[in-house]
Amino acid sequence: MRIVKEIKRGRVFIGRLNHGADLLEELTDICNTQGITLGRLEVLGAVQKARVGYYNQETREYEFSALDRPLEILKLTGNISLKDGDPIIHAHITLADETGRAFGGHLAPGTVLFAGEYVIEQYEGERLERGFDEETDLPLWTETEEQS
Ligand code: ZN
Repeated sequence: MRIVKEIKRGRVFIGRLNHGADLLEELTDICNTQGITLGRLEVLGAVQKARVGYYNQETREYEFSALDRPLEILKLTGNISLKDGDPIIHAHITLADETGRAFGGHLAPGTVLFAGEYVIEQYEGERLERGFDEETDLPLWTETEEQS
């Protein structure tokens, strides 16, 4: 299913994240506090350890890897939409070790910040909501009924 929506850029936030905090929780907390239900985000910085997911398309399950060491955040890119009425962040992260070798995946809880700088752009427009997708078994964006 293809979905096309036109949106307008709203507020833009920039700042720093808490040392020692869970990266996904920190970002979700900012979205909740600022009432952001649609948007995109970017982070760079470093983590003390990371946990990333890979979606196995055969088994239809996420496989999680723990990277239990300090790593640079080369880039985290993600979006913000709604799931069950609450803001949910879907983010992918690229990390590098001391040799510059890169690792990455779907950002999972358990990624602990050393330092982080973020930009969050809020969008205004129709709501974008996640729902169960039968083709992939993933919570993808679905067409929502228009409120008239
Ligand atoms: Zn993902």
